[in-house]
Amino acid sequence: MRAKQTLLSIRTLTCLAALLAAVAMQLPPVNASADVGSKYWPVIGPVIRPFNKPTQAWSAGHRGIDIAATAGTPIVAAASGYISWTGVVAGVASITITHYDGLRTSYLPVASSVTKGQTVVAGEIIGVLLAGHTDTADALHLGLRRGDEYLDPLAWLASSLARAAGPIRLLPEGVQVPTTPSLGAVSPAESNWPVTGPITSPYGWRPWGDETRFHSGVDIGVPCGTPVATPWPGQVVSVAYNWSLGNYMVVQHPGGIRSTFAHLSEHLAREGTYVEAREVIALSGTTGESTGCHLHWATSRDGTSLDPMSLV
Ligand SMILES: [Zn+2]
Ligand SMILES: [Zn+2]
Repeated sequence: MRAKQTLLSIRTLTCLAALLAAVAMQLPPVNASADVGSKYWPVIGPVIRPFNKPTQAWSAGHRGIDIAATAGTPIVAAASGYISWTGVVAGVASITITHYDGLRTSYLPVASSVTKGQTVVAGEIIGVLLAGHTDTADALHLGLRRGDEYLDPLAWLASSLARAAGPIRLLPEGVQVPTTPSLGAVSPAESNWPVTGPITSPYGWRPWGDETRFHSGVDIGVPCGTPVATPWPGQVVSVAYNWSLGNYMVVQHPGGIRSTFAHLSEHLAREGTYVEAREVIALSGTTGESTGCHLHWATSRDGTSLDPMSLV
């Protein structure tokens, strides 16, 4: 009799455990764009001021990178970790995240939507950008430290091929978005375009001086230094320079599709690297035969040129 009862209760417990596991599996994710293992650009925009390591702790330099973005834009955690600081010092609101490898990232000026001690995952919104970091444009200052040593956040993002979070991100409840006028032209938020901006020259024949020339891709107007994300996964098959395309990269995607990204200011992914969709592989520029900052994006299928806009 007793043995039977024990057996019954074990059965009941097993059922209960299975039920709990099923409930746990149905819990919603922390954030739609959250991803514990990845790194993310905290905001997508051109790098308008690079890292300049100070020679001494007290000397001048730039202890991070400035990424231009409009005040009010959501800022996401570049990597998973916990909030080790959030507050205002000398009128500047900042957030520091301590990551699981001991590195710390700091974000300023940001109106925080997180609290000290809270854990965050990469890609999770931690606040919104405030105005005023530079005199000329609103920008996020992203710092990176190991102990007391300042490191280059751009090199860190590039080493991991950080991802570009999609344009649609949910703000945590109760966060007030400051109403500041937009700094630049409003551009189409196309989630799988490599950059977001207006098409300044479409694919196809176009006048070129006295003749017409075939434009093998689309030109998307963006400031120099803007992160370029691969629209689809694939392998970086070429990282090179020529007089016409300037610094360019070729990514081979599944299905015989190939993308060429040209006039870049900086290559971030190395040749041979496998990249996931939305990974940032380069920064836009105006190298080669180019009259201004833009991204030239060309695509082909099995060697035949086609309009990138027919694929998105
Ligand atoms: Zn700065
Ligand atoms: Zn072009």
